[in-house]
Amino acid sequence: MSTVKWKKHQILGSGSFGTVHVASPSNEPNSTNVVAVKSASFPHSDSLKMETNFLYELRGCPEIVQCFGDDISVENNNEVYNVILEFAPGGTLSDLINIPGKMSERLVAFYTRMILKGLSNIHELFVHCDIKPGNILVFPMKDGTNHLKIADFGLAKDVGVEIDSYRGTLVYSSPESVEFGVLETSTDIWSLGCIVIEMITGEKIWKNISKQELINEIVRGEPIIPQNISDIAKDFLQRCLAKERQKRWTADKLLYHLFIVDNLVKVA
Ligand code: ADP
Ligand code: MG
Ligand code: MG
Repeated sequence: MSTVKWKKHQILGSGSFGTVHVASPSNEPNSTNVVAVKSASFPHSDSLKMETNFLYELRGCPEIVQCFGDDISVENNNEVYNVILEFAPGGTLSDLINIPGKMSERLVAFYTRMILKGLSNIHELFVHCDIKPGNILVFPMKDGTNHLKIADFGLAKDVGVEIDSYRGTLVYSSPESVEFGVLETSTDIWSLGCIVIEMITGEKIWKNISKQELINEIVRGEPIIPQNISDIAKDFLQRCLAKERQKRWTADKLLYHLFIVDNLVKVA
């Protein structure tokens, strides 16, 4: 439990399970020391506690959001469970994708490498199960580049443990997760492929279709690799988006793919 109590300010995000606020220490009203506090009350607090356990286990990885502690507050006579996270001033990767203009392949490779480093750490023990731009936080650096960190372990699970139903965000979901509820490390790699397409083209991998068509496309269709990109980027995408999950490369292997290695420069 952390001892400092945090005063919540504006909302950064909210879902059906809880809310994320910017917060500062309540005993220092003018502090510039801000954090993000993710909160939920019972019964959703139970899954937030599990999420916190994943974050504690992954502490120290530079590409995973750091958790400073947790506490319980009482708000409107309700017990609220709070997780104190480092605050990402740059928003999420969705915000970067939404900036007009295309990202260069070099920049995409620079961002992809950071996501792969995070995944490489996660995959030693866990599957994230919800890799998507809105769950990747952005930390602007002094040199003008952005550092990325993976967040939102709300759907994460242990490697090798079977789950009883599908979970995730459909458009980033792999064929085996949608069809059979199979979620293993290779599932996160598929989602990464979807994100790389979205960074390169500015558009989602599957577009303008109904939920049923989307399920059909994911399970039976072939993901469309953009044509107007370099051969090396195409090859990288094929390694992520192999329909047979056993054929997908691991995060550790993808870190040494030429798309990543040939673009080893910091890009602002
Ligand atoms: P949910 O499980 O509801 O999706 P997330 O952990 O993804 O919760 O947080 C929801 C949103 O809140 C994120 O998409 C992001 O916009 C914002 N957010 C979450 N954590 C932080 C943080 N540490 N710093 C800044 N913004 C954050
Ligand atoms: Mg989220
Ligand atoms: Mg979540």
